[in-house]
Amino acid sequence: MTHREPTIHHPALMVTCPRCESVPGAHCFTPSGSRLPDGRVHRDRADAHRNRQAA
Ligand SMILES: [Zn+2]
Repeated sequence: MTHREPTIHHPALMVTCPRCESVPGAHCFTPSGSRLPDGRVHRDRADAHRNRQAA
């Protein structure tokens, strides 16, 4: 498989988003207040999740 299609529950959703401050389990929101599509999170949040696993 050349690409991994994220499911509804993105692993990064388990951490608080440093970008939009969404709590764990909540979807990310854009500055305009729209919810990001399922499977989409801010890169900052993905990085935060990655860093948490590494730490
Ligand atoms: Zn976010």
